[in-house]
Amino acid sequence: MRLFNSVSRKKEDFVPLKPGAVGIYACGPTVYHYAHIGNLRAYIFEDILRRVLEMNAYQVRHVTNLTDVGHLTDDGDAGEDKMEKAKRREGKNSWEIAEYYIDALKKDWQSLNLKEPFARPRATAYIDEQIEIVKILEKKGYTYKISDGIYFDTSKIKDYGKIAMLDVENLQAGARVEINPEKKNKTDFALWKFSPKDSKRDMEWDSPWGVGFPGWHTECLAMSLHLLNGHKDYEHSEPFDIHCGGADLLPVHHTNEIAQSEALAGHKLAEYWLHNEFVVLAGDAKMSKSSGNFFTLSSLEEMGYHPLSYRYLCLGSHYRSKLNFSVQALEGAQRAYMKILNYMALPTKEKGKVNQKYGRLFSDALNDDLNVPKGLAVVWDLLKNEDVSLADTQATLLNWDAVLGLRLHEAKQVLQEIDELQTVPDNVKELAEKRWQAKKARNWEEADSYRDQVLSLGFVIEDMADNYKIKKNYGE
Ligand code: AMP
Ligand code: ZN
Repeated sequence: MRLFNSVSRKKEDFVPLKPGAVGIYACGPTVYHYAHIGNLRAYIFEDILRRVLEMNAYQVRHVTNLTDVGHLTDDGDAGEDKMEKAKRREGKNSWEIAEYYIDALKKDWQSLNLKEPFARPRATAYIDEQIEIVKILEKKGYTYKISDGIYFDTSKIKDYGKIAMLDVENLQAGARVEINPEKKNKTDFALWKFSPKDSKRDMEWDSPWGVGFPGWHTECLAMSLHLLNGHKDYEHSEPFDIHCGGADLLPVHHTNEIAQSEALAGHKLAEYWLHNEFVVLAGDAKMSKSSGNFFTLSSLEEMGYHPLSYRYLCLGSHYRSKLNFSVQALEGAQRAYMKILNYMALPTKEKGKVNQKYGRLFSDALNDDLNVPKGLAVVWDLLKNEDVSLADTQATLLNWDAVLGLRLHEAKQVLQEIDELQTVPDNVKELAEKRWQAKKARNWEEADSYRDQVLSLGFVIEDMADNYKIKKNYGE
């Protein structure tokens, strides 16, 4: 199995640290809003990674966190805590906001058929551990104190910013954002921030340095090392296998996780770093929770699209390429997915066998840096090959679904769910009713004209004995 490692910028053979077992840590969401479909792409990619590792018989321990404190509106150390900001928007306290959006995330997780992680730790459950890490960094001489917190001195790290190819010198000179003038280097980041003097935060804790809250980059270190090493002796931690996240995390968040790990224990944090590219909207617009410019899974459902149709859409582009999202593209994905589901729903009497030749093509594609688009092309080649029996094709697809995660074993049920999402607009309902009346009155021409109007609005009418059904037109 080969994976593209952001550290070497090359595809490398994957060799786990311990034979047969793999530890993955993936940066999870900041729970101050619903996950948007860009965030969800990151989790779909991580799910595929896990499933492909399992296909290769590895025992996978997948940890993905919930950031419920400390992620500031600027990824470095400036701005406001996103949880505090959401508080003003919603009139609830930060703890309630976290609860609400964690619940929402878990629902999305299930709808997308993502496997349950080994652990889903909350940053607020790791405060003591983060304080412990900052204490070790302090003891080793990597920290300094300024008026708003304890900071990490990045100039003490050789090769700081290497993984992200940061031009640290130029960052210093041509900084675009306003830098706290007390910071020694522009790239220095907060390990512990003090609570504001004039107001009380919902989330704050005592520490040896004063009341405050942890920095975002320390959270992930505490949770990943504890849950993947299995102990909290951070000074004697060991690297783990794979660290994932979206491409935006590389320059600041991941660079700072790496710097702390070097300082803490003198080793790299993870062997392989994998980053997914972004979902973008028309015109390359960035989708972000902060800009309000985003789709959620439920907004797609309201438009008649099943969450797994979005999963299918994501499978169609490689995780390291940008995914240009449009409703048309999603429509195409849903149609293609329904074709596969319809095929899986066909009755067969015999018990099929997995086709070995196609099986190899499929696993070769996935083992080549998770080339799922190529894997899907193999799916379609198999579906078109009339020399392979229906039973064998179905058995083969069911076998592959361990990786694709498209619920092909319950195809009829998913088709039913898609059907239920097809709410029909009132004007279409009216036209269909007029057609029904015209038909009853044997007014064929008029009935046909109403039917055509319904068709032009993207729906078809299916007649039954003494009733009719309106369905979304998939052009079948
Ligand atoms: P956040 O909730 O912003 O902390 O992000 C959670 C995960 O989603 C991180 O791995 C991000 O890198 C990733 N992410 C954020 N926006 C996008 C996007 N538009 N497309 C793909 N991944 C994203
Ligand atoms: Zn993280």
